[in-house]
Amino acid sequence: MFWTPGVHGIFSIPGLEIEGSNTRYFSIASIHDENTIKFATRIPEDCSQFKKHLAQLKEGDEIDMEGPYGEFNFQDDSTPVIMIAGGVGITPVRALFKELEKGNDRIVKLIYSTGGQHLFKDELSAVAAANDKIGIDFVGGREELAAKLEEYADEMKNEAYYFISGPPGMVRTVMNLLEDRYINEGRIIAESFIGYE
Ligand SMILES: Cc1cc2nc3c(=O)[nH]c(=O)nc-3n(C[C@H](O)[C@H](O)[C@H](O)COP(=O)(O)OP(=O)(O)OC[C@H]3O[C@@H](n4cnc5c(N)ncnc54)[C@H](O)[C@@H]3O)c2cc1C
Repeated sequence: MFWTPGVHGIFSIPGLEIEGSNTRYFSIASIHDENTIKFATRIPEDCSQFKKHLAQLKEGDEIDMEGPYGEFNFQDDSTPVIMIAGGVGITPVRALFKELEKGNDRIVKLIYSTGGQHLFKDELSAVAAANDKIGIDFVGGREELAAKLEEYADEMKNEAYYFISGPPGMVRTVMNLLEDRYINEGRIIAESFIGYE
């Protein structure tokens, strides 16, 4: 199968019968060239039945994927891009960074905010280190995120595209921040991880 960076699939475990929905959306964190479909998720101790079963899968077990779907992808090769990822919302961004690794001439700024571990930190940092147009701010919370975003939005204004990925609450907060900075809706591309708070 073929997929473009930034898409997601709808995953289900064959034969799994649980209360509620037995499918989950996961963004594909890998690109087609890697020849592997990679996704990442948060599995807390007190997790859903779906994730309990997901965590128990062993190498060789099967999982179904419907899709790919979505359009969380670059619009062109030159317009600057400001990416804002919250927590596990980094997954489609990892795919976009793998694409940038193949060649990039645009300015790219990533603000990656999480209260926990910065997933894919080494891989993302390696892509940024190899291209002086790419910069990453690893931040620890919403205030730090807001400060960085305001700085970049004031500098780039409507000359950049703004990619937002993360839990719905975080996506809404960032959209409001951009609205306050007079960034046009058409400049904002958002992936809201419905299912998280
Ligand atoms: C486009 C998109 C991309 C996403 N990418 C990722 C990703 O890369 N990594 C990641 O961890 N999460 C991702 N999510 C969220 C993911 O699908 C799950 O909702 C989330 O991980 C929480 O699942 P859970 O089993 O822990 O929560 P639960 O507690 O089981 O679910 C929380 C609530 O959401 C509802 N819900 C969850 N999934 C569905 C569904 N498919 N259909 C209907 N209702 C549902 C549940 O019924 C419950 O009310 C994505 C969501 C979307 C929409």
